[in-house]
Amino acid sequence: MHTLFLATGNAHKIDEFKSILGPDVLVLSQRDTNARFDVPETADTFEGNAALKAIAWARYLHSDTCNMNVEWVVADDSGLEVDALSGAPGIHSARFAALDTGASGNSPDHANNEKLLRLLASVPAERRTARFRCVIARVPVAHPHPSAVTHYSGTCEGRILEAPSGAAGFGYDPLFVPNGYNQSFAELGGDVKNRISHRSAALAALRAALSP
Ligand code: IMP
Repeated sequence: MHTLFLATGNAHKIDEFKSILGPDVLVLSQRDTNARFDVPETADTFEGNAALKAIAWARYLHSDTCNMNVEWVVADDSGLEVDALSGAPGIHSARFAALDTGASGNSPDHANNEKLLRLLASVPAERRTARFRCVIARVPVAHPHPSAVTHYSGTCEGRILEAPSGAAGFGYDPLFVPNGYNQSFAELGGDVKNRISHRSAALAALRAALSP
């Protein structure tokens, strides 16, 4: 049994990791510790930001003050790339709306979705292509150093609707229809999403690297 610490407090990401990795991998997360520290996402790539989060938490878990028995830290940095917006919101997906107001922290999902729809208002259906991208960084707690980081990535191609649809999932799920489907991730629900998503593709690569 492998034990991973997932460096996030996002309950949706935690649920998706647990469902996709299954019972053979024990997934702990920020929700299993009282430790709190903010890791500024200052890199300009998903890879860089995932590594920053993984290394910061691995250093903490490696320290004397922590008695959690964890083998690896993993961190997911992910987002939506819209072709008609030259790849935006990309690494700014979580605080897309706040880029305009200067507000600190992540923006509410509805504010990000409203901004996206506003920017795409005059873009016709055939040009609303987009993809979700997920990069997972993994680092051993025993050696929390940039040279020890490995990355696993996945994408899911699709298109952006003209209005939100569905209630499941999080983030941009109500606006994103994956290729081959006629419903959004938020309508399709967790079982379908976890089979075809960017996160499931990245986790398949991580799982293969963890085996046996
Ligand atoms: P992160 O937590 O800094 O990686 O930010 C990820 C952001 O990208 C989230 O807040 C969502 O807005 C968006 N995002 C990433 N993955 C998904 C997904 O699976 N569905 C919907 N939105 C996602």
